Amino acid sequence: MAEQRQCDNFIGGVFVAPAGGEYMDVTSPADGSVCAKVAVSGTADVDAAVTAAKKALPQWKGLTIKSRAACMFKLHHLVQEHALELATLCTLENGKTIAESLAEVAKGNETIEWACSLPQLAQGNILQVSRGVMCHDENEPLGVVGCIVPFNFPFMVPCWTTPIALTMGNAVVLKTSEKAPMAMTRFAELVKEAGVPDGVFSIVHGTVDAVNAVCDHEDICAVSFVGSSRVARIVHQRCSALGKRVLALGGAKNHLVALPDCDVAMTAADIVSSFCGCAGQRCMAASVLLTVTAQPGLLDEVVAKASELTAGQGAGNLGPVIDEASQKRILSYIEEAEAGGAKILLDGRSWQSAQPKGTWLGPTVILHTKKTDRALQDEIFGPVLSVLEVPDRETAIAIENAHPAGNAASVYTNSGAAADWFSHHFRASQIGVNVGVAVPREPFSFGGMYGTISKFGEHDITGTGAMNFFSQKRKITTKWSKFDMGDAAQFK
Ligand code: NAD
Repeated sequence: MAEQRQCDNFIGGVFVAPAGGEYMDVTSPADGSVCAKVAVSGTADVDAAVTAAKKALPQWKGLTIKSRAACMFKLHHLVQEHALELATLCTLENGKTIAESLAEVAKGNETIEWACSLPQLAQGNILQVSRGVMCHDENEPLGVVGCIVPFNFPFMVPCWTTPIALTMGNAVVLKTSEKAPMAMTRFAELVKEAGVPDGVFSIVHGTVDAVNAVCDHEDICAVSFVGSSRVARIVHQRCSALGKRVLALGGAKNHLVALPDCDVAMTAADIVSSFCGCAGQRCMAASVLLTVTAQPGLLDEVVAKASELTAGQGAGNLGPVIDEASQKRILSYIEEAEAGGAKILLDGRSWQSAQPKGTWLGPTVILHTKKTDRALQDEIFGPVLSVLEVPDRETAIAIENAHPAGNAASVYTNSGAAADWFSHHFRASQIGVNVGVAVPREPFSFGGMYGTISKFGEHDITGTGAMNFFSQKRKITTKWSKFDMGDAAQFK
């Protein structure tokens, strides 16, 4: 068991105890032990972070973007150097395997790498719009911005926004997940070591009160949120009511459609890594598999591949789910489906008793007969795949389109025409063709479909979406008094 750590707030470049002196336990999902104590913050702590940020901001935003990006180059190097340490913290607090944590750190570092290219990308347009009249864009920092993040990617999701917001000249107040605050606490030290001035990057840990304080603070002008749809809606409403710029990404229910012509071996392997990777706790995880006509061969292969997974974070390749509440919730979906007549093709419930401690649950595949089953509707957020056989592609699309979420959807086929048809008929905004976790990589932005429970607000996160979200475009139009190039006298 690892030593217990203390995650204090990071304000003005130093770690400080929360104003109220309160801490809560961070438990390791693998064995239920307390691996850290995390600060529980409120208005006074957010206020202190904003005060430090406002003090540091003039100098930071006064630097050239190239100088700010230079800090990101150093940060990228530092994250690479400390990748194993950061990944070990992610595994400890979140439960995912060490291989998954290393991939998470590498993926987060890709956004830092992308932020290094902002001096080239943030230039904007410049054009002589009429004779003698020039127009150019400037992307100005917004000021102090807030970023609120979930537990499932303790390192990567904060990196979706933080490096870009900082490089665009803002000061960031980050509210970590109280379930997984350790990797970011260590990251704060690396940000400082990279040369980001004290106060420009702060961490305020905590729960609801800290989130509300970030949303309500009059000097925090923009807020990004990633988490469940329930809280995304709250944060969006709260910030919008105060006239703030807000982007709140919520939960998902991702549909995969397998057509009869799909490559069975590749499709099965991809589906298993989609619904079991990170113990199914990815907003991009496969949740529902719609097979167009019955495909027993594919299901057999999915079950066989998923059965090969073993419990563990190092030697094993499937970690636990985050906590008991989550485990209980996931079990309730399996039990309810079974009681309602669904067939459990692979039952991961046995993993609970096989592991003496922690919140373990093996891969579970459910073959439903009723499309109204709750497991087919709600985001389960665990290693559970709900399968439904549908007669044709129109039925598959109707089911996907009718769902209130709109995060991701994929089709498995060997037909380009069918792939095109699905790509343009899915409702979700992130589409995979023979790819079960269709995460767009920089420079692409990331975000669910507008008007669904997967996204509340404008813009997207990561890539150019985040560059635009964390800056104010200013258009400057100039005209100077006309002079005659042939008249040398005017220069005397
Ligand atoms: P969550 O909504 O419970 O928590 C997210 C953040 O909100 C945390 O920092 C938490 O402290 C805070 N919070 C929780 N309850 C709150 C409340 N009542 N009022 C104010 N703040 C509150 O989400 P989670 O369980 O940490 O993360 C899992 C969810 O995040 C899943 O639904 C998943 O799909 C979603 N997610 C979405 C994306 C995406 O890009 N759309 C990415 C990752 C995770």
